[in-house]
Amino acid sequence: MKTYDIALIPGDGIGKDVTESAWQVMRAAAKRGGFALDGKRFPWSCAYYLETGAMMPPDGIETLRKFDAIYLGAVGWPAEVPDSVSLHGLLLPIRKGFTQYANIRPHRLLPGVQGPLRSDGFDILCIRENTEGEYSGAGGRVHSGTANEVAIETAIFTRAGVERIMRFGFEQARARRNKLASVTKSNAQKHSMVFWDEVTREIAKDYPDVEVSHYHIDAMAARMVLAPESLDVIVASNLFGDILTDIGAAIQGGLGYAASANINPDRSAPSMFEPVHGSAPDIAHLGVANPIAAIWSGAMMLEHLGERHAAAEVMSAIESITAQGIGTIAGKDRTETITRAVLAAL
Ligand code: ATP
Ligand code: MG
Repeated sequence: MKTYDIALIPGDGIGKDVTESAWQVMRAAAKRGGFALDGKRFPWSCAYYLETGAMMPPDGIETLRKFDAIYLGAVGWPAEVPDSVSLHGLLLPIRKGFTQYANIRPHRLLPGVQGPLRSDGFDILCIRENTEGEYSGAGGRVHSGTANEVAIETAIFTRAGVERIMRFGFEQARARRNKLASVTKSNAQKHSMVFWDEVTREIAKDYPDVEVSHYHIDAMAARMVLAPESLDVIVASNLFGDILTDIGAAIQGGLGYAASANINPDRSAPSMFEPVHGSAPDIAHLGVANPIAAIWSGAMMLEHLGERHAAAEVMSAIESITAQGIGTIAGKDRTETITRAVLAAL
C-alpha cells in the first residue's frame, strides 16, 4: 500500500487539539482511499523552548526533510516566549529551509457559515509570496537616538522570485477558473512594483488562456469586501498577501475556517500545512476550538500529496456538516463533536 510519511508538529495550546482532529480525519480519508499515512509526532513548541532553550533541535530541519509533508498545529504559548522566538526558531527555518515560496489560502464561505458580509458565492485562492519582498529583513537605522534618526526597510524582489510565484499562480488559475489578479502598488512604489508588473506581463504570455488583471493593494482590499465573487486567484507580495489574507479570513467567517499551506511547488523539499489561527491561549484545553480550519488544511495536504479524491471527500464531509449547522456558531459545538460529525460524514 502507498504510504506517506507525515511529520506532525502539534505545537502549543489549541494547536494540539486541532491537530488530533485533523489527523483522525486524514487517516480516515486515507483508509477509504486505499493509502496509508504514517505520522511521527514532534513536540517542538514554545513549551519545548522553555524546557530546552530552542524551538527544535539543531538537526531539526534535516530530520523534517525526510518526510513527504509537514503538518503544524500552532505555536505561540506560553506568552513569556516572544513571537519572534517561534517565528525565527521554527516557522521561518522551515519555510526558508524548504523553499516554501508559495503561501496559499483558500477563502470561501462554507455552506451554513455566516460571514460578516452575507456575500456568498465567492471562491478565492490567495497566493502570497513567502520568501522575499517587504519581509526581506534588509535595512537598518542610522543616527540612532538623535533628532535625525532614520530607519530604512528595504524590500527585495528578485526576477527568479517573482517569476516563480507568478508561474505558480498561473498554474493554479489554470486548474480553477482561469482568472488571475496581480496585486501591487506600482503607482507609488516605482521600482519593485513596476518590476513585478513587468515580470507578470512576461509570464502571462505563456498562459494566454488565463485572464490577468492588475490591482493596486488599496483597490483590491475594497474589492475583496465589495465584490469577492468577481475574484479567482490573487497573487501578492509578502506584505500585501499578509494583509489580504486577513481580509479573506474575516469574510469567510473567521479564524475557525481559515486554512493554509506553505508550498514548495518544485517538490524539492516537503511542504507544510497549518490552520491560520494561533495557539489561542484563551480557549486552550477547553475542548472548544473549531477544528474545521485544521481539517481543511489537512485536505490541502492530501491534495498536495496527489490524493485528490481523498481531499475532495474531506471537503465534502466538512461542507455537509456545516450545511447542517454543525461548527457554524462560535462556541456552540465542541471540538470533539465537530470531529466526530466530519468522520461520520466521511
Ligand atoms: P498566538 O499567540 O499563538 O498567535 P493568538 O492569541 O494570536 O495566538 P489566535 O489563535 O491567532 O490567538 O486567535 C485569536 C483568537 O481567535 C483566539 O484567542 C480565539 O479566541 C479565537 N480563535 C482562534 N482560532 C480559533 C478556533 N479554531 N476556534 C475557535 N476560536 C478560535
Ligand atoms: Mg497571534
